[in-house]
Amino acid sequence: MDIICKRPRGTEDKLPKEIYKWRTVEKIAAQTAEVYGCKEIRTPTFEYTELFQRGVGSTTDVVQKEMYTFDDKKGRSITLKPEGTAGVVRAAIENGLFNDALPLKTYYFTRCFRYETPQSGRLREFNQFGVEVFGAASPSADAEVISLANDVINRLGVKNISLEINSIGCPACRAEYYKALKNYYEQYKDKLCDTCLERLDRNPMRLLDCKSEICSAFKENAPRILDYLCDDCKTHFDGVKARLDALDIKYTVNPLIVRGLDYYTNTVFEFISNDIGSQGAVCAGGRYNGLVEEIGGAPTAGLGFAMGLERIIMVMDSQSLDYEQDAKCDLYLATFDDETNIYAMKLAQRLRNDGFRVEFDTCGRSFKSQMKYANKLDAAYCMVIGSDEIASRSAKLKRMSDGEEVSVSLDDTLSEKLNMLMMNI
Ligand code: ATP
Ligand code: MG
Repeated sequence: MDIICKRPRGTEDKLPKEIYKWRTVEKIAAQTAEVYGCKEIRTPTFEYTELFQRGVGSTTDVVQKEMYTFDDKKGRSITLKPEGTAGVVRAAIENGLFNDALPLKTYYFTRCFRYETPQSGRLREFNQFGVEVFGAASPSADAEVISLANDVINRLGVKNISLEINSIGCPACRAEYYKALKNYYEQYKDKLCDTCLERLDRNPMRLLDCKSEICSAFKENAPRILDYLCDDCKTHFDGVKARLDALDIKYTVNPLIVRGLDYYTNTVFEFISNDIGSQGAVCAGGRYNGLVEEIGGAPTAGLGFAMGLERIIMVMDSQSLDYEQDAKCDLYLATFDDETNIYAMKLAQRLRNDGFRVEFDTCGRSFKSQMKYANKLDAAYCMVIGSDEIASRSAKLKRMSDGEEVSVSLDDTLSEKLNMLMMNI
């Protein structure tokens, strides 16, 4: 097919007939975030590349291989955001949001762009719902953020999701752990994949995240970060677990969760579905106490999560869950000629201003095909506007489900009458 009519690999069209699913998920996610005191934030789709590629420390696939990066016309390097957190942190620093009362609690919906190998649940452009909270260092914040994600999942009715948590400590306790890890992996050096070899020096913890079969096998007996946590990190993690227990949120501790981005500290977590195959992580997040400083702000605690909306909807579909359906057409006005069509247009305008979903013919269709179309729209009511109706300022409202008709006046009382009828439908 001509490339003009082909969407780029790894992208999706969200069509009108399925938008109700997105609306449902977005509405419930936003409502849940708001009862937790979060406010929406919207940041640009692209940022200067430096925001994501901070210094030379980036060891993740996302930053090293997956970014959509290009020069703009002035030769500045621009990157389409691969994730939401960095943009929110940049915006908060730039707009002085950390100077207001803390914690700063934000949520957002964003498109993310990653040059990955497309497969089910893995796209090059995808949508995330995210929450980021700043200035809250206590374990209550970790539990609150996890609970928020958990509530979104529950309110959507999604079942069969497991929550896995871990602590990856702070830079201090991680230093010891890195030594132990390097030591351990030294014996397998000749068997490791190239990527792991490269990471062994810079960020050995990322070896635990390698998906290659050979490297994965070595994970089992690798030293566990939880054995290396300093007292503060251990206390923090215990505090998080105690609060999840108090909230009756079920979890398992999985010491192999290290997350795909470098900036996490302490708590990390993933919500995993068992229903959509290997791309089962529907939500992932954690604490990132060093990030604000790394981006150029004053040291500020931070934490959050991102939920993959395509994946959540895949799980919901696989479980045949209900969404809020799109509202249908309330009233179709069928007309015959210019005079009646213009009258219908004015009437539609009036009723639309009163909140009704009204349609009339804009295709120049015959009366018969207008009625066919009204059926196709699944309109609740239909009204024929002929010259007699205009003259008498009254018409018949026909309920499409059973053909029952009532006479109505076309004057100002029509909206009220329609309202009453719609309520009894
Ligand atoms: P994965 O291990 O599946 O690659 P990740 O660690 O790269 O995930 P994050 O960067 O934490 O994922 O993004 C948060 C969430 O966004 C994921 O849990 C997932 O639901 C979703 N997500 C990530 N990458 C993609 C993608 N390429 N296509 C669709 N959804 C994605
Ligand atoms: Mg990934």
